[in-house]
Amino acid sequence: MKHAILPGATIGVLGSGQLGRMFALEARKLGYRIHTYSPDRDSPTGQVADLEISASYMDLERVEEFAREVDVVTFEFENVPFACAQAAAKHAPVRPRGEVLHTTQQRNREKSFLASKGIPVAPFAAVRSAAELDAAVARIGTPAVLKSADFGYDGKGQRKLRSPADATAAWNELSAQECVLEGFIDFELECSIVAARGLDGSFAHWGVLENLHANHILDVTVAPGRVPPQVAQRAIELARAVLEALDVVGVLCVELFLTRKGELVVNELAPRTHNSGHLTFDASITSQFEQQVRAVCGLPLGSTELLRPAAMANLLGDLWIPREPNWAAALALPDVKLHLYGKAKPAPGRKMGHLTALASTPDAAAALVREARERLRS
Ligand code: AMP
Repeated sequence: MKHAILPGATIGVLGSGQLGRMFALEARKLGYRIHTYSPDRDSPTGQVADLEISASYMDLERVEEFAREVDVVTFEFENVPFACAQAAAKHAPVRPRGEVLHTTQQRNREKSFLASKGIPVAPFAAVRSAAELDAAVARIGTPAVLKSADFGYDGKGQRKLRSPADATAAWNELSAQECVLEGFIDFELECSIVAARGLDGSFAHWGVLENLHANHILDVTVAPGRVPPQVAQRAIELARAVLEALDVVGVLCVELFLTRKGELVVNELAPRTHNSGHLTFDASITSQFEQQVRAVCGLPLGSTELLRPAAMANLLGDLWIPREPNWAAALALPDVKLHLYGKAKPAPGRKMGHLTALASTPDAAAALVREARERLRS
């Protein structure tokens, strides 16, 4: 631990959303100071940070100034421009490295990287023109999914192609930008492995997290995921291979499909804490956020043991319509925890907070968290 950045030091966070907020809360518990940098003001992270800097990610002089004032830089938003991470790296270690961002923030780069390391991904082709899309459809077949290569998350910038006849409309709707065409995976379930890697190469994970989506947005996560032990083992091995291949120092989430044939296919990577890991805040000895603090500061990783089966339900802005949710009704369930991110304006689809329920089985936790969320509407 010769190079450890010890409590009392200052951690810089690029990005200022809820992931940074929960990271900052854990960092503060450990006695660190937090500076956050993003274009926003009164942000979820800024509200709990020691210093909130509101400036463009491309104001590289300002980024350098920010980095000079901190002992280490991490990020909570993977679409921070690579140039911004490079500018910060002139003055402080950036963990994970900017190259990890670069690889994972563009779908074609990410998929090519995974494929080159022998990690299973859906059949895919980079598409830069209508003609390339026709060729890709001929090779991959339908059904398939056309996704914009940049800045996509939560299903934004995606069109399903049920037949080759859908290609032209899908291409035009995605504004003819660089895309990736992926074969459609007929999956049994979706899951993720949130994992951490320390400065010394140590590895930790929270096991399989089972993810249920609604309208392409994560809706409910259940832990432990209800998959056979050999599937869990394989998923963990794949995650370990990804973190090692990318030489990650920090936290990274591997999102996976489990096909109906029992095979695992990597959907995408998030080089940061992940929505599916939020339940670790209440249900694990060490949360994903504390683990990110430990990893980026060069400290030993903590135990990821799950104390009880748990489930998380997202609270989207839709729940605020027509009136403020009934918080007391959900909190009347004593094994349910409420997290709100301090966002002033609820909007449909906007992640405003989440609930975590602890129970004796994953099924019971899932039922309890759904009941709690239902009560918010009472
Ligand atoms: P993504 O933004 O890539 O995480 O996609 C959002 C959601 O769309 C995923 O969680 C899946 O439910 C669905 N999806 C994305 N890609 C595929 C695919 N190749 N096959 C089947 N479903 C997909």
